[in-house]
Amino acid sequence: IIEINHLKKSFGENEVLKDISTTVNKGQVLTIIGASGSGKSTFLRCINLLEKPTGGQILYKGENVLEKGYNLPKYRTHLGMVFQSFNLFANMDVLENCMTGQTTVLNRKPEEAKKIAIQNLKNVGMDQFISAKPAQLSGGQMQRVAIARALSMNPDVLLFDEPTSALDPEMIGEVLKTMQDLTKTGLTMVIVTHEMSFAKDVSDHVIFMDQGVIAEQGTAEEIFEHPKEKRTQEFLQRLR
Ligand code: ATP
Ligand code: MG
Repeated sequence: IIEINHLKKSFGENEVLKDISTTVNKGQVLTIIGASGSGKSTFLRCINLLEKPTGGQILYKGENVLEKGYNLPKYRTHLGMVFQSFNLFANMDVLENCMTGQTTVLNRKPEEAKKIAIQNLKNVGMDQFISAKPAQLSGGQMQRVAIARALSMNPDVLLFDEPTSALDPEMIGEVLKTMQDLTKTGLTMVIVTHEMSFAKDVSDHVIFMDQGVIAEQGTAEEIFEHPKEKRTQEFLQRLR
C-alpha cells in the first residue's frame, strides 16, 4: 500500500535517514526497532509527511506523493498517527476528541461521527468514559482514547510512535493488548516500539534501524530468532 524508495532526510548537515527502502503491505503489521537516535521517529514522520524528505520516493497506491501537484491533504487523511505523548485535546472530553477530526476534516455529520466514535471507544474499552476530560484519565486510558480517535478517521494505515514508552509499567499491558486486538482486524499498522516480545508476537515484517539505515529487515522469526547482521545480534543481546 506504501512503497518507500531510497528515502533520505537531513537536518542541516546531519543526515538522519540514508537511503531507506521498504514496503508496507496492506493488512500487515510492520514494526521498527533500533537504538535511540537511529532515526525511527524521523522515518515515521517522513511517511506521513510531518517531515519533508530530502530525497527518494514515497509511493501510495503506486503514486509518488512527493511529486508536485499531488493531493497531500488527502494523502494525510489516509494515515493515522498515535504518539508517545497521546496529544489529546485537553479542553475536549473523550467523545469530542474522537469526533472533531471526523466533522472538520472528513465533513461527517455530528450524529454519524458520534456513532463511529462510540463504536471505536467500545473497541478499546473506553466507552464508559465519553464525558471525561483527558486530565481525569490514566496514561493507559488516554492512549486508548488516542487510538480510538485515530481509528475513527478510518485510516488506511495507522502509525504508532512508541505508544507505550510514556506509560507507567502497569499500564503498558492494556495498551499492548488493545494494539494486539487491532492487528487481528486486518488494519495496516506501522509501529515503532521498544517492546520486543510484543514486536515478536505481532509483526509480519520487522525493520532494524541503525544510524539512519535499515541494517536488517525480515520476518519476526528472521530478525528475532536468526538475525544475520552483527549489529542486530548485538542490539537484541543488550536487551536480554
Ligand atoms: P528514540 O528511540 O530516542 O525516539 P529515534 O530512533 O526515534 O530515537 P529520531 O528522533 O528519528 O530517532 O532522531 C534521529 C536523529 O535526528 C537524532 O540525531 C536527532 O537529533 C535528529 N533529529 C530529529 N528531529 C530533528 C529536528 N527536527 N531537527 C534536527 N534534528 C533532528
Ligand atoms: Mg523516536
